[in-house]
Amino acid sequence: MRATLVTLLCAVLAPTITLGAEASTGRDPLSHHTLRIGRSVDGRPIMAVETGDSDSPRKVLVVGCIHGNECSGVAVADRLADNTPPREIDLWIIPSLNPDGAAADTRQNAHGVDLNRNFPWEWRAMVGFYDSGPRPLSEPESRIAVRLIERVRPSVSIWFHQHADVVDDSSGEIAVERTFAAVAKMRLEALAREPGSAVTWQTHCLPHSTAFVVELAAGPLKPDAVARLGAAVLAAGASAPERRLVARC
Ligand SMILES: [Zn+2]
Repeated sequence: MRATLVTLLCAVLAPTITLGAEASTGRDPLSHHTLRIGRSVDGRPIMAVETGDSDSPRKVLVVGCIHGNECSGVAVADRLADNTPPREIDLWIIPSLNPDGAAADTRQNAHGVDLNRNFPWEWRAMVGFYDSGPRPLSEPESRIAVRLIERVRPSVSIWFHQHADVVDDSSGEIAVERTFAAVAKMRLEALAREPGSAVTWQTHCLPHSTAFVVELAAGPLKPDAVARLGAAVLAAGASAPERRLVARC
């Protein structure tokens, strides 16, 4: 199954993918691959890491940063990528989906588009701070995310933002979000739904999946918070129902 998925991704994403050296030892049941899944508007590489049990139907996606000035979640993503692969889940990590925005310390990408308004479900033309782009999926970064999500079909997806200090009860299994919030020691609350957001698109595209936003507090994370949030990701993933999802988009 591991070889099948990697082969599929290579076929779909080539020539943008490079596999890590540990990809094909064949003896370890746990995998750890590093893949380049595309490039930003300004040509910066966008990377993904797959780590854990690639046979597991519990597929978990973590995106450390989508708004370039809200990137404290990258520390959590990097810790998860560097740690021992988890045994109970197939963990996919995109440390940063918006490297141009991070370099410029802006919310938007290099086209001035808010990537979290550029996804196709309930997309609406918006300008200014929430510029949604000229059309759904106009931006390479959002297309990269959609392409990966359609292939992996994560049962749990966690998108880190800042600065509201709350776990958003966004969609799907409330028990999964409660588990995350309890381990992370954060409050759980439903925030407003936004047109063209990644989470609303995933909810539409992948019935029975759980995709939610984690709004970290302002400022960088302390090491104990990084550890706690990493543990929360793993606990939330392990608590998801064990079933493979069928995409409807
Ligand atoms: Zn945000």
